Amino acid sequence: MKRLAVIGHPVAHSRSPAMHNAALAELGLAGEWSYEAIDLAPDELESRLRAMEGEGFVGANVTIPHKEAALRLADTASPVAQAIGAANTLSFEAGGIQADNTDAGGLIDALPGGVRGRRALVLGAGGAARAAIWVLAKESTVVDAVDVWNRTESRAQEIASHLGGAPVGTPKLGNYGLIVNATSVGLHGENPFDELRPLADGQLDSEQVVVDLVYGDRPTGLIEAAKAVGAHAVDGLEILVRQGARSLKIWTERDPPIDVMRNAAREALPG
Ligand code: NAP
Repeated sequence: MKRLAVIGHPVAHSRSPAMHNAALAELGLAGEWSYEAIDLAPDELESRLRAMEGEGFVGANVTIPHKEAALRLADTASPVAQAIGAANTLSFEAGGIQADNTDAGGLIDALPGGVRGRRALVLGAGGAARAAIWVLAKESTVVDAVDVWNRTESRAQEIASHLGGAPVGTPKLGNYGLIVNATSVGLHGENPFDELRPLADGQLDSEQVVVDLVYGDRPTGLIEAAKAVGAHAVDGLEILVRQGARSLKIWTERDPPIDVMRNAAREALPG
């Protein structure tokens, strides 16, 4: 059996096993490949990663809080993972551990075509913001310009100086065709219009594309508000599906069944 996994701490809530196992079944690989969740504390990560190839693992997704450590511990890393400074996808080979980052490409895959040539606003300067800022500002030709707002302004300045984009203190919402929430606001049902000042000071409109990386059992307040004004809303589950699809392609070299993955991710109940 070729083994795959998602490694996090905690990880019981992850929808990745349901999503990937459904994809493996659709590809006719279910008897040959399997995907599981592994909860590892930070001090357990290195020794377990080193052992995984011997345990039959071909690859793993890596999630909070291990993405930076996974890149550090890998023997080789793709230019994308190196540029972002984090890995969400590992491949275990006889020669060592290869690190990649599919969060960046996954975001681009999830965007509708109509976003091309717009100005983007990324909210946040934490781990999730890194891939979004880098891919929008430096890598893709999808948007024309990227502004970065963060509650702690110095972090917006620091992340933009490393990854691209321009830090902004008081962005005007109407200037942006793409808005990406890469903060953790909304994870526990918080109202984004209370917590995120650029949203509180402006209004969404129907021409905008609104991405919320946060997802849970219910649509977030931001996704609900975007849909209410007729904006194009992309939720965090779609981003999860798209990054997962890219990871699966790296490991199996097969075209991932996106619809099957999306349905499985949406139906999966947190453990
Ligand atoms: P993180 O590194 O802890 O960063 C948290 C960010 O949220 C920081 O920018 C922080 O601002 C901001 N923030 C937190 N509370 C806030 C508040 N009350 N008001 C304004 N800003 C606030 O977290 P992360 O790893 O980037 O993850 C962020 C979210 O993305 C999480 O909900 C995670 O689940 C989600 N995510 C989703 C996917 C996906 O596939 N859909 C992938 C990765 C992450 P300060 O700098 O001011 O503290």
